[in-house]
Amino acid sequence: MRRHRQTEEGKEIHRRQQKRYHDRVKNLVLTHYGKGKLKCVKCGFSDARALSIDHINGGGTQHKADLGIRTGYGFYGWLAASGYPEGYQTLCMNCQFVKRYENNELARANWKIGFTRRARL
Ligand SMILES: [Zn+2]
Repeated sequence: MRRHRQTEEGKEIHRRQQKRYHDRVKNLVLTHYGKGKLKCVKCGFSDARALSIDHINGGGTQHKADLGIRTGYGFYGWLAASGYPEGYQTLCMNCQFVKRYENNELARANWKIGFTRRARL
């Protein structure tokens, strides 16, 4: 691929601006669903890099698929644009995985995306 310095620079600036904007929307949404704090509602973990929105009654993956949204940001943008609908909460990755494990959501999600390989023990 040929490199056009100016174009690459322009793209890079655009990427950074987009990322800043995405981060801001994400933080706003996470704060809203963290009951006013940028924190996991279960354990209080507060590093935004490992926080995400949990669909309280499960089915988040399907819901996102229904919306035709593939990226996490699209989902945050959708939540903000929809006036913060109820039924979501801010959870850290640990709590998300524990919850999914307990609800057996992980197995179903993997099944859906065609995850068929199993570890050989
Ligand atoms: Zn947590």
